[in-house]
Amino acid sequence: MKNNNSPVRIRFAPSPTGFLHIGNFRVALFDYLLAKNLGGNFILRIEDTDQKREVPGATEKLIKVLKSFSLDFDEGPHLGGDFGPYIQSQRVNIYQQEVEKLLASGKAYRCFCSEERLASRRAEQEANKEAPRYDRHCRNLSAEESKARAEAGEAFVIRQKMPEEGSITVFDELRGEITFKCADLDDQVLIKSNGVPTYQFANVVDDHLMKITHVTRGDEWLSSFPKNILLYQDFGWTPPRFIHFPLILNKEGGGKLSKRKGDVFVEDYLAKGYLPEALVNFCALLGWHPADDQEILNLTELIERFDYRDIGVSPAVFDLEKLNYYNGYYIRQHDLDSLVELCSPYLKEAGYDLKEANLKAIIALSRDRLKVLSEVALLTHYFFKEPEYDISLLIWKNLSSNQVRENLKELSTVLEEILEVDWTKENLEEIILPYLKEKNHKNGDFLWPWRVALTGEKASPSPFEVASVLGKDKSIARVEVAIFRLDQKSLQ
Ligand code: GLU
Repeated sequence: MKNNNSPVRIRFAPSPTGFLHIGNFRVALFDYLLAKNLGGNFILRIEDTDQKREVPGATEKLIKVLKSFSLDFDEGPHLGGDFGPYIQSQRVNIYQQEVEKLLASGKAYRCFCSEERLASRRAEQEANKEAPRYDRHCRNLSAEESKARAEAGEAFVIRQKMPEEGSITVFDELRGEITFKCADLDDQVLIKSNGVPTYQFANVVDDHLMKITHVTRGDEWLSSFPKNILLYQDFGWTPPRFIHFPLILNKEGGGKLSKRKGDVFVEDYLAKGYLPEALVNFCALLGWHPADDQEILNLTELIERFDYRDIGVSPAVFDLEKLNYYNGYYIRQHDLDSLVELCSPYLKEAGYDLKEANLKAIIALSRDRLKVLSEVALLTHYFFKEPEYDISLLIWKNLSSNQVRENLKELSTVLEEILEVDWTKENLEEIILPYLKEKNHKNGDFLWPWRVALTGEKASPSPFEVASVLGKDKSIARVEVAIFRLDQKSLQ
């Protein structure tokens, strides 16, 4: 880590709405990588000013889920720190004090307009095809009148007084300068009538008071950027640096990642059996690329390489196939004991009896095909249950079903002669393959129906591998079942 004494401070500022969206997870990951690359602090701040959207227990859940990725905070509601409280609903007095400064300097004003008035203005603007915005009705009330009406108990919000003309130029670390016309900026609400701040106000006040050095967030916030900078100017504060991360789009159709098109919450991916290390590697590359083009990177390697200047500005594409590739890769990095542990919950959930099963051997056979842990139940079902299949699957190429039955009978006789102690994959291969050769049989004419009899599947590991794990009795019994079913067919 560079810069150990550096005061770099980066916050992740989610709203506690229940689940962690992949886009927000990517923000948290970039925040963490940036903070750690610069030797700074990674801070959690809960932005719960929109209480309608709040879900009880969401903050605890969020902390837990980020912990499963080893994204550990240095400060936050659960850890404390010198800049708390770290939950906005516990900071309402701070926002009140701060907004008083803007009222006193004339940079903000009380607005007493009723909901009805605002709604009817909005309707008129819409009818005239104008952008809906506040018509600044209360902007020029005298300080005395404003104060007197507030003291008389009239309800009001506090709005930011935007410059009426000119332009404001802001600087994003990735995009450079961006200029906005002030005339387009609405006199946005800073404090609602219940005294609670809006996101726009609380976010700026907190970033300043918490000495945040880099404001990092999704580029959906770019349109708020000039308003944020104007607030810094109104207060006379120096703004931090701003980095807006690119949007993440669906691969199909290119729209924003949405639930309609697949899973969007990190919790869904974890539940399906995506490994944290795969999600971290995959999400880090959503919009960022290391200068050395290395694609397989663990958290430590990501921290070392994470230079925010390598983040692009064009949208990143969420490619599930790529995530599956990473997951398969990281699955294969686990040793068998740990894979058995990771897979067991999914096998139990499928109702399989794991007591008798040789799980290590079963998982060893499936490991290479496994991309998502939850698929393990489907990939290994024939080790736990009798296979079900259409007998036409037993037929190899243009063999008749009678011939297949005869082949299986012959095979069964050979298998019977193999001693149980010799029943290993290697021995089975060393006995069966030379036998077929000697008899001038084609491998496929025997091995295909045998494999289908064992697994019921079109694709699976070889019959030698499957039989070695199933054991002699089960392996021969399944051949007998296949022969019986073919017999039944010939009687029809
Ligand atoms: N609470 C905002 C969100 O959840 C934070 C945006 C920001 O980081 O400024 O998106």
